[in-house]
Amino acid sequence: MLSSRKRQIKRIADNLWRENNLTPGFDIHDLLERKDIIFRAENLEDGVSGALLVDGDLKIITVSRSDGPQRQRFTIAHELGHEALHDGFSVSVSSTAKEYYRNTKSSTGEYEKEIEANFFAACLLMPEDAILEEIHHDEAIDDNRISQLATIFNVSQMAMAIRLSSLGFV
Ligand SMILES: [Zn+2]
Repeated sequence: MLSSRKRQIKRIADNLWRENNLTPGFDIHDLLERKDIIFRAENLEDGVSGALLVDGDLKIITVSRSDGPQRQRFTIAHELGHEALHDGFSVSVSSTAKEYYRNTKSSTGEYEKEIEANFFAACLLMPEDAILEEIHHDEAIDDNRISQLATIFNVSQMAMAIRLSSLGFV
């Protein structure tokens, strides 16, 4: 992803955070209600974790009911990314990056959209500024600390570890 596109996506996620007075670990279902997006948890086919449907003013985010709450939360944030970034985009989401690779031809640009939606989700659930408020300057961040931060931001340890690494904190 181009760094200019990254900055743009970060800005859109930061604006959503500010406009809705979000705080670490915020209730994403409240955010859906405020944005008039209908939420559904359903039985989805194997390998599909969520979907966004946009039909005019009607917006529906569906997640797999068999996923745990934290995973559903990340999926919702991912679908919010499609809603914010990919006008009129409607698609099912595979559950793993490997599957995107397997099922998606890079030439279609679909895989790029998945990367962008995941980056948006990371920016929305774990904003850089909010992380900076939690950690101390020059703090050594070990697994326990990652786990603590994951709890504060209500994301998986894996998601937090990847986020901290991409921000250069670990
Ligand atoms: Zn997607």
